[in-house]
Amino acid sequence: MHKNFSIDLATRVKDLPPYLFATIDKMKQDAVKKGVDLIDLSIGDPDMPTPKHIVHKMKKAVDNPAHHRYPSYEGMPSFRQAVADWYKKRFNVSLDPKTEVLSLIGSKEGIGHMPLAFIDPGDVVLVPSPGYPVYPVATLFAGGESHIMPLLDKNNYLPDLTAIPKSVLKKAKLMFVNYPNNPTSAVASRAFYKEVIAFAAKNNIIVCHDAAYSEIYYDNKKPLSFLQIPGAKDVGIEFHSLSKTYNMTGWRIGFAVGNAKAIFGLGKIKTNLDSGIFQAVQEAGIEALNTDDSVLEKIRNTYQARRDVLFSGLKEMGFDVRKPQATFYLWAKVPKGFNSSSFVSHLLEKTGVLGTPGNGFGAPGEGYIRFALTVSAKRMKEAVERIEKAL
Ligand SMILES: *Cc1c(COP(=O)(O)O)cnc(C)c1O
Repeated sequence: MHKNFSIDLATRVKDLPPYLFATIDKMKQDAVKKGVDLIDLSIGDPDMPTPKHIVHKMKKAVDNPAHHRYPSYEGMPSFRQAVADWYKKRFNVSLDPKTEVLSLIGSKEGIGHMPLAFIDPGDVVLVPSPGYPVYPVATLFAGGESHIMPLLDKNNYLPDLTAIPKSVLKKAKLMFVNYPNNPTSAVASRAFYKEVIAFAAKNNIIVCHDAAYSEIYYDNKKPLSFLQIPGAKDVGIEFHSLSKTYNMTGWRIGFAVGNAKAIFGLGKIKTNLDSGIFQAVQEAGIEALNTDDSVLEKIRNTYQARRDVLFSGLKEMGFDVRKPQATFYLWAKVPKGFNSSSFVSHLLEKTGVLGTPGNGFGAPGEGYIRFALTVSAKRMKEAVERIEKAL
């Protein structure tokens, strides 16, 4: 009808990396259609419900008309205070709730917006790979360039900061770091964070530490907050989320804490793009942050039992795999003769067990598969038995 009309995507959308999980989604649908009894270990989303006391608080909060209006941009003072109190209690880190805490509509939102606040075209962002795909995509959207920091087994899945060329460092303005790590399940030591802080200070790089999995840990080994290390607040911020800790992925609530200037910049972007989190959800968030540790202990124990089943099962079969100390993922090398994709397909076809191909998280993840601990221990046993039979 309108001859000259056409809809053209922007370059930044055309430049998006191919969605590697699209083929997996298709394979999954096909398997389900064929009536395969699928054991889906590909999803990074807790299978357990949000604890009841949080849901109950939400139900009450929804009835309060005060919460039906626009929330404040930066988060309710009471929510930001609850975050500061939680940091004090959990990490012994002091935060000013007014200037050093910002509420987020899930930490993905904050991570996605961070480069818009600090990256100009031509600036470089240091991005770990394999890693959370939002880091390079957010960089792309801001017109920046990603410099990949490979996470390799031989380096305990920590980036080698000394391998970054000087020419890159000159242009680098931001770096993403994520421990406990998705997808490798690696954790970072105090020494590593110290190194990161010295490196960032020397090269004038803002550190964005993604701590989404800090509360999903095993064998009572509590992961550190980046902000526990002296000097951290001078160079960076930490992203946190209620999603994984409290089984609240659907609620969309998280926060960023740390350097006031970095928080201010991120807040400036958000003020112009979103209007904060539904206050009833923030009320539920306060309730969540005050959750009794026994509730979280139960969640951790559930994951730990599943981890033990899958880890010992794979280990016995001869898989090259490390025992996760945190996160609900297990990162395994695929058997000889396979690559990530071919092994995921093979496994699905022969066993009905679905994992995520490691290369979906970036090229250095090639040759690996990620299993999520998001099915019951009973189903996990079944998965192990099926894999044993098929191999
Ligand atoms: C799940 C996840 C997040 C964020 O989740 P939100 O629900 O947006 O808070 C952030 N980083 C990593 C590495 C994750 O796996």
